[in-house]
Amino acid sequence: MRIPNKLNIGGINVIIKQYKDNAFLPNNDKRNGLSGSCDYEKLLISLAVNRPEPLISEILLHEIIEFINIHYNINLNHDQIDMIGVTLRQVLHDSKLVF
Ligand SMILES: [Zn+2]
Repeated sequence: MRIPNKLNIGGINVIIKQYKDNAFLPNNDKRNGLSGSCDYEKLLISLAVNRPEPLISEILLHEIIEFINIHYNINLNHDQIDMIGVTLRQVLHDSKLVF
């Protein structure tokens, strides 16, 4: 998967920064073994990319959902964000959906 340098999420430009290891993440999100973070104030998503591919795309989707959750004040809990991210990745991957 090609990871873009920025994403437009709901009309907001968000920077995507890649780190070779989660030790370098500015704000570690190690809950449930994930290695990414979403800084809504800085409009920044950070990813550790020293992971197998399925995990990297799950982390990216997870952080996008975290951003949406904060932006729209949805109040999903972290387990719900995880479930949506993992399942969404599975559907997109298995269906080879390209928009
Ligand atoms: Zn998280």
